Amino acid sequence: MKIEVWQGDITTLAVDAIVNAANETLLGGGGVDGAIHRAAGPELRDACERLALVRPGVRCPTGEVLATEAFALPARHVFHTVGPVWHDGHRDEPALLANCYWKSLQLAEKLEVRSIAFPAISCGVYGYPLYQAAQIAATETIAWQRGHREPRRIILVAYNSATFKAYQQALLAAGQPVEEACPAERSAQDMRIATALE
Ligand code: ADP
Repeated sequence: MKIEVWQGDITTLAVDAIVNAANETLLGGGGVDGAIHRAAGPELRDACERLALVRPGVRCPTGEVLATEAFALPARHVFHTVGPVWHDGHRDEPALLANCYWKSLQLAEKLEVRSIAFPAISCGVYGYPLYQAAQIAATETIAWQRGHREPRRIILVAYNSATFKAYQQALLAAGQPVEEACPAERSAQDMRIATALE
């Protein structure tokens, strides 16, 4: 097993679960969250709205994760996690970002998810330095795979080439080289077929 890196739009992936980099309200925002809500359709917002508030304005605290159906998306589940806003690195940002990955993988195991795709959580408007975030994504996912059988496919999705390169470097630094023709670089149609055959 190895961590896969794929460049493209996470909403096109026919995996068991895609992870959304949401905000604490779960009521939609820009970036990958906006793309996921547009592609899933209005039922996704309704499903998020039905999730209980844990305190005023907060359905999912930073570093936590909640699942909904994926509605019109080709994926089966959407895992909504909330990454930390980057301040200076001394406000628990690394531990909170690590929690987003680790708790998503715990939830994946619980829901018998075999394939999961992550966007670069916190690397957009939340301003997390790209390489530091990529190191956390690499460290957490590699550590998970060492101790668990599922999900057997973990895909780090880069929306742009800078993120793709950061993942390659971080995985290499963690002792896991990324092959040029990695298996995740398949069309959504191929992935749907592969998932159906598993
Ligand atoms: P955050 O608020 O956690 O920073 P953003 O949505 O602003 O979340 O950005 C997170 C990452 O998701 C960024 O690297 C951004 O380029 C990427 N991204 C945006 N749209 C998509 C998409 N459709 N598929 C995959 N990644 C995306």
